[in-house]
Order: sequence, then structure tokens, then C-alpha cells
Amino acid sequence: MIRKIRITNRIFIRYSLFIFANCQLLTANCQNDVLKYAHQIVDTLASPSMYGRGYIMKGDSIAADYIKKQFEKIGLKPIEKEFYQRFSFPVNTFPGGFGWGFRGIDKYFETDSFILVNPNSPHTEYGNYKVIWFDSSVVSSKKNLNEFEKNNFSDKVIVIDSKGVSESSQMKLIENAKQNPYHSKAIVIFNNKKLTWDASQTLASFPTFELLVPDCENKIWHEQLEHFYFFVESKFIPNYQSQNVIGYIRGTQYPDSFIVFTAHYDHLGMMDEEAEFPGANDNASGCAMLLNLARYYSQHPLKYSVAFMAFGAEEVGLIGSKYYVEHQLFNINQIKFLINFDIVGTGDEGIKVVNATQHKKEFDELVKINEEKKYLPSVQPRGKASISDHYFFEEAGVKTFYIYTLGGIKAYHDIYDRPETLPLTKFEELYKLVIDFSDTLQK
Ligand SMILES: [Zn+2]
Repeated sequence: MIRKIRITNRIFIRYSLFIFANCQLLTANCQNDVLKYAHQIVDTLASPSMYGRGYIMKGDSIAADYIKKQFEKIGLKPIEKEFYQRFSFPVNTFPGGFGWGFRGIDKYFETDSFILVNPNSPHTEYGNYKVIWFDSSVVSSKKNLNEFEKNNFSDKVIVIDSKGVSESSQMKLIENAKQNPYHSKAIVIFNNKKLTWDASQTLASFPTFELLVPDCENKIWHEQLEHFYFFVESKFIPNYQSQNVIGYIRGTQYPDSFIVFTAHYDHLGMMDEEAEFPGANDNASGCAMLLNLARYYSQHPLKYSVAFMAFGAEEVGLIGSKYYVEHQLFNINQIKFLINFDIVGTGDEGIKVVNATQHKKEFDELVKINEEKKYLPSVQPRGKASISDHYFFEEAGVKTFYIYTLGGIKAYHDIYDRPETLPLTKFEELYKLVIDFSDTLQK
């Protein structure tokens, strides 16, 4: 009997060790799984087949379809009949991009990222025009300004350079000139900082170009630039169709209360067939967090329901999230807390939490968990900010955080925000922090 027990014990111990080793293996696999799945999502959403998830080739809808299929695979349920919440909005697109050139300037351009057309620019036929300067010499003297205004602008392009202008009344003149009160053919603006692109819901009556001219090159441009030629192939779409993708996991005890995770899936799309804005960090990374959390909660449901909202048309002005707040599928009063992810692909320096100052108790909890578990190098507070999809929810009385990562690569709203250079440095740590934090929300 005794002997038998001993044997059983030994077997039990060996078996336990086996299970323990396997558990460790499983945990390691799970951890790898989070990053593996995140990379898979980022690689797919930021691949050429998604056309920058914007308004060329219906890139945003291809991305929405991918997310919907992931929702189905994970086992989320739609709130109503389908995962899509459809809406439309006006947007200016650039199916043919734009072309440009200079005459007079003798310079070799190493990159093609030094000129951008303003997203509100209208379609314009090819033309070649003499340039006329609007710079410090024009705004610094009344006489020079009067001389400038005598020009015939109908066959000219105005080049605006604010270098050397500091006085506020003169700066006002510069800003005013950007609105093209002289009705020139186009406006070209000198900029000595990195150019970023955007999307526009409105259409201007003239094209504007922004040109990256470092201070060291400023003089040579002034001396040599004579002509600017260009065309713009843009198309304004008054009723572009898009959609939010929304699913949820039913709560085990209080299914009518919700914890909500959000991330926008759209990006800036393309400028002709050449320039694509892949938007790996902004915001394929946030979608990767959303889907990873969906996968987690499908296996570990909470007492509350957990909803996942992938918003469209954020880049055009938070349109998808605003549409939800104005057309609620479930009442936003039922939301206990909402966390929005937008740009979470780095984390070398930790995270910033928008609305930390609005919800101090929850923010302190987040910091406490992070200090105990040592997930991230820092969890930093920020006040209110209308810069992402949490905004209209917060304004409507929902408690929200918007989290973005700090440090690492700086690519943003440009063609360099690519999947192959997105490190996902602290992705898994942030994922764990959010899970631990969400646990405390249902206590
Ligand atoms: Zn974004």
C-alpha cells in the first residue's frame, strides 16, 4: 500500500513537472503568439494590397473587410445584424497624383519627399509659370508690398517664404498670402521642417504646394528659381462610402455594461501609383492591439461585455468615431471605460495617456500596475486632446483614455511609416498592462 502510494507520488511529481514544463512552454508560445499575430496584422494592413487604406482603389474598404474577417475568425458577435456601420463623407482624392518641375534652379534632389501638394488642391491642367516671391523683403516695407501688389498674378505662381520674418504683423501678411488673395495660379510654400500629408474634406479653388527647403539651401533657391510648372490630378468625391467595423464579446454577468477598445484602421491612401502611405504605426499597430485583445477576451470573457470598434475615416477628421457617437448601436451610457489605441508600435520610452488628468483614479491604477509589473519604462499623463477617436466619446461623457507609445522611429504621415521598420518594441508589455488594467475596471 505504502509502496504503491510512493510510486503514485513519484508518478504524480514527474507528471506535474511535465505539466509545469509544458505550461511554461505554452506561456512562451502565447507570448510569441501575441507578437506574431501583431506582425501579421501590421504586415497585411500596411501591405501594397491595401493601397494605404485610403480613398484610392477603395483601400479603406479592403482593410475593413480584412478586420471583419478577423472578427469572425476570433468569434466576435456583431451588435446588430452585421459588423459594419456604414456612413459617407466628402473627401478629396489624388488618383493621378501631381507633377511638378522648376526652371532656373540647378540642384540635384536626393529624395522625392521634399514636395507635397496640399490635400485640398483642385484638379489643375499642366501649366508653366513665372514665380514671384512673397518673402521678408516684401512684408518688411509698405513700399515693397505696394510694388508687389502691382503685379499681374493671373500667369504667375507665388512662392511664399517666411524665413527671417518674426514680427507678428508681418507674419499675418504671410499667413494671409497663403489664402491666395491675389488669385495667382498656385501657391508654393517654403518649409524648413519635415513635410507631412493629410486628407481633406474640402476643396480649395487653387493648388498649394509645400516645399522642403533646408535653411542652408534657402539662398540658392532665391537666386535661381525662375519658373514652376505643375499639374494636379485630383478628384473630389462628395459622398465617399466607408464604414466602422464593430463587434463584441458578451459579458458573463453584466452583458449590458461595456468596456470598449477602439482603433482607426484607415490611413492616407495613395498619391497616384507611386507614393503610398502604408501607415504601419499609424494605425495598423492600433488595429493589431485591438485584434490581439479581441482574441484574448474571446478566450477570457469579462463580467462586462467587451466591444471592439475599428473606425474608418479618422484621418479625414475623426469621422467614423463621431458618426458612432451620433448613431449609437448601444447606448454610450453603458460604457464603463473606453481605451483608444493610435500609434502603439514603439514604446522605447513608454506610453502617453491622454485624459489621464480627467480620470485620475484610473490613471493612478494604471501607473500602479505598471510599477508593480515593470512593463513599460514610463506611463506619462497628458490632458485632454482632440487628436484621435476617443475625443467625441469623452465629450459625450464617456470615460476614455487614448494611449500612444513614445520613443523609437519618427516616421509619421509620410511614405516611411512602413511595416518592415516598425519594431513593436513594447507591444506585448502594453497588451499585458491593458489586460491587467481592464481587470480592475470590473471590480
Ligand atoms: Zn492615427
